[in-house]
Amino acid sequence: IVVIAGPCAIEKKAIIIEIAKSIKSAGAKGLRGGAFKPRTSPYAFQGLGVGALKYLKEAKRETGLFTVTEVMNISQISQVAVSADVIQIGARNVQNYDLLKAVGRLKNPILLKRGMSTTLKELLLSAEYVMSGGNHKVILCERGIRTFEDSTRFTLDLNAVPMLKKLSHLPVFVDPSHGIGIREHVGAMAKASIACGADGILIEVHPKPEEALSDGPQSLLPGQFFELMTELKQIAKAVGRDI
Ligand code: PEP
Ligand code: MN
Repeated sequence: IVVIAGPCAIEKKAIIIEIAKSIKSAGAKGLRGGAFKPRTSPYAFQGLGVGALKYLKEAKRETGLFTVTEVMNISQISQVAVSADVIQIGARNVQNYDLLKAVGRLKNPILLKRGMSTTLKELLLSAEYVMSGGNHKVILCERGIRTFEDSTRFTLDLNAVPMLKKLSHLPVFVDPSHGIGIREHVGAMAKASIACGADGILIEVHPKPEEALSDGPQSLLPGQFFELMTELKQIAKAVGRDI
């Protein structure tokens, strides 16, 4: 089971390096941080852009973690593909078919997030768009869907894990941070994700969540992430897997 962690957005060089070191010491294998952020409001922080890619590379050099970052449009692909290992397609772009075709021509693995209202069949067809271009390295990621429930940010659909694993050979990841959107409950859903068969998880971590430029309320403190990793290792063992 692969654990990927990091801040929602890359904000400053010192912060991303600090986070990279702390998640690595907790046992994470991948570092995720956004340079280009799809924000609901045009007035919210949009990410540092290309400048952040340099910081991500430096964090990789310092820690050896593989890196994950999002592309929002075709024009960002060439720079991102040489700066990060894995390319994320965010929930809002899961049915951006031109973008899917374009990343289908890359060698980088693609972390494809389920949209907030895409069915599993639609998600799998989006994965087909990537793979039909020749890039078979696709990771599916459940990150919460929209339901009538409004006490949590989204409703993490853990049904997706066994269903997708039955329907497809692709690895299935879960992002409990966006799925529930509430720091104190991210751990519970991370544990549930491992218990129900996820091949990996994505966790947002920030050393000063109250100052984070995006998704602070759902970001774990490094110490909380460390403790969670200890618990996740036990859950993994209980289901015959390893972190
Ligand atoms: C994110 O990963 O920070 C993000 C914006 O995710 P999603 O596309 O799932 O909303
Ligand atoms: Mn986020």
